[in-house]
This record gives sequence, C-alpha cells and structure tokens, in this order.
Amino acid sequence: MSDCLFCKIVKGDIPSTKVYEDDVVYAFRDINPQAPTHILVIPKAHLGSVNDVNIVNSVVVARIFEVIPQIAAQEGLTGGYRVVSNCGADAGQTVHHLHFHILGGKELSLEMA
Ligand code: 5GP
Ligand code: ZN
Repeated sequence: MSDCLFCKIVKGDIPSTKVYEDDVVYAFRDINPQAPTHILVIPKAHLGSVNDVNIVNSVVVARIFEVIPQIAAQEGLTGGYRVVSNCGADAGQTVHHLHFHILGGKELSLEMA
C-alpha cells in the first residue's frame, strides 16, 4: 500500500527506531509513547486491521505473538506488559495497517475504554 504510513516505515521511506526485524515482522518505538516502553509490532505485508486476518495470513500473526515475548524480555519488561490492537473507529484505530502495541515499564491503569 503506497499511501500507508507503516508500509513506508517498513520500506525505510519514513525513519523509525527499530526494536526487532525478521522476514515477516517489524517492531519499532511508538512516536508518542503512552508508557515508558511503547513498541508497535507489525506484519511487513500490509493488512488493514484484525478484521483482515484470515486462514491464509494468520501465520504472520502467530509469528508476531512468538516475537512479542522476545521483545518484552529484550526490553526488560519483567513486571509484565500489555498487548493492544485497536480495530476500527470505535477503538480509535488511527493507522490502518495491523499493529500490536506493547505497553510496559510501569503499572498500567486497568481502564480499557
Ligand atoms: P492506533 O491509534 O492506530 O492504535 O495506533 C497508531 C500508533 O502509531 C499511535 O500510538 C501513534 O503514536 C503511532 N504513530 C503514528 N505515526 C507514527 C510514526 O510516524 N512513527 C511512529 N514510530 N509511530 C507513529
Ligand atoms: Zn501498510
């Protein structure tokens, strides 16, 4: 998707602070962190949101969830962390390329709404 912000980040057209990369997954620091550690984990191939996950591409989501604990360990999130994916307008999704937020480094509020 040529007009997708996160596709541009994957391509290196927009700079980002890389935390992890493999052949299908890219992770980088959120530009507007909501916690001391705030990382976005994305598939390199464009998917719009959780709604676009299907039996063909879900292997990349599985890979993302294998990688998330590695990133958490690398970041020293020994006290725990939260994984969030906003899907659609009511959830406040602002970038329409599937991404998982990793939030940690402090005791997080239980507020979800
Ligand atoms: P959403 O609201 O869609 O769940 O999350 C999008 C996230 O992308 C936000 O937390 C926002 O701060 C982050 N973000 C938006 N633009 C950029 C950018 O250019 N670089 C980085 N690193 N993060 C971005
Ligand atoms: Zn994209």
